Amino acid sequence: MMERTNLLTSFQEFGLADPISRALKEENYHTPTPIQAQTIPLALAGRDVVGIAQTGTGKTASFALPILHRLLENRIKPASKTCRVLVLSPTRELSGQILDSFNAYGRHIHLSAALAIGGVPMGRQVRSLMGGVDVLVATPGRLLDLVQGNALKLTQVEFLVLDEADRMLDMGFINDIRKIVAKLPIKRQTLFFSATMPKDIAELAEHMLRDPARVAVTPVSSTVERINQRVIQLDHSAKPAVLAQLLKDENINQALVFTRTKHGADKVVKGLARAGITADAIHGNKSQNYRERVLAAFRTGELRTLVATDIAARGIDVDGVSHVVNFDLPNIPETYVHRIGRTARAGAEGTAISLCAGEEMAYLRDIEKLIKVSLPKEDRRTPGAHANPTPPPHRGQRSATHAHPARNGDAAPSSKGPRRRRRGPPAGPARSDGNRHDAAPRPQHGGNGEGLQGVAFLQRKNRPAQPTAQHRPHR
Ligand code: AMP
Repeated sequence: MMERTNLLTSFQEFGLADPISRALKEENYHTPTPIQAQTIPLALAGRDVVGIAQTGTGKTASFALPILHRLLENRIKPASKTCRVLVLSPTRELSGQILDSFNAYGRHIHLSAALAIGGVPMGRQVRSLMGGVDVLVATPGRLLDLVQGNALKLTQVEFLVLDEADRMLDMGFINDIRKIVAKLPIKRQTLFFSATMPKDIAELAEHMLRDPARVAVTPVSSTVERINQRVIQLDHSAKPAVLAQLLKDENINQALVFTRTKHGADKVVKGLARAGITADAIHGNKSQNYRERVLAAFRTGELRTLVATDIAARGIDVDGVSHVVNFDLPNIPETYVHRIGRTARAGAEGTAISLCAGEEMAYLRDIEKLIKVSLPKEDRRTPGAHANPTPPPHRGQRSATHAHPARNGDAAPSSKGPRRRRRGPPAGPARSDGNRHDAAPRPQHGGNGEGLQGVAFLQRKNRPAQPTAQHRPHR
């Protein structure tokens, strides 16, 4: 049953503590978004909440604001090696953005917040947890490593947030999450967010939540309606030239270009450089520092074109993105929706252009089925060359590399492979790039992994991260 509440139309009506209200004014937040209007009163009242909402709907504030308010109501110093709030997110980038949001909304509160993400050494994370923190934002694998290394105890967690649960499932994190939940106190408040609610996710929510209130905003397919979408059908080999031409011709403020593979992202950047277009790439093979630098340049608008793989781009929230270009079509239709949702942020107009080679037509059909829209298509294929197109991949076909998505990725699923619905790789030239899903590297739990050394904590949004030990916002 969906909760029906009288939706509040101004932040004042929530009765949030004064330092939080002040921060919201400074952030220029006047009207709560629908997910905020629904979630905040329930969370303030102490209810568990299941929210169906995508990134871009304002869901971060919908959990961060009530949690900050409730922390303030009961100010206690966190015990050593504990946290009061645990936020689990699937990727490093999203985790960094969530931490930034807590720090922004909590800037007038004496709050300690930290980030525990994989792909960087653990030592500093370990040291900063020594004194305990109010808010810890973590990716599941690194969190388990910290717990298993006795750097963190989860016995004092009062608030648990699980963000982008469906993405966690995609990335094979569900077993890790179950392990983490088993270590948490039963008496806690849990806020659970997912863009979609497949059966496995509904079961996970059932397992984690107590009598949850359910809220939902804008189904995936209607979010995309605001975005001006089109498809260019072309020969695979023509993609680099067509992309360069688009970036030169279109009226683009900033463009986010998606490739399915890390190698593909690097190739696109090189191809654009040859065409005289500056671009940079982020993906799991780039160092954390590099990714943060590139993202910071993209956020400030200094970098106009960013090429990214799906996982690296997850959570990128840059209002200036006027265009999303799918250099490769994704083999999971929901990924298309996530990708194009990077544009048309904050009510702005957005354009999404997909470059579709013959072998990707099956992916396009899946996407159109999901969004229930037949996308306008422009045919730029070489006449005659497509008379005998490469057959589309079989449903459910997987490559050998697909069975081991972590092998070259930036996140190793700890258990199951990727989701069943994912299609195999196209049979065409893209195959030479492999079809490894870009995911974050993660050591084996309890094993040698990276060992308990080193760590990084991200800094505020819109700034390149500095690897400081613990993050205290302005007071
Ligand atoms: P999220 O879905 O949490 O990633 O938020 C998407 C974007 O909307 C972020 O840039 C937020 O800073 C912004 N945002 C969230 N809530 C509001 C609000 N009530 N008013 C204006 N901007 C908001």
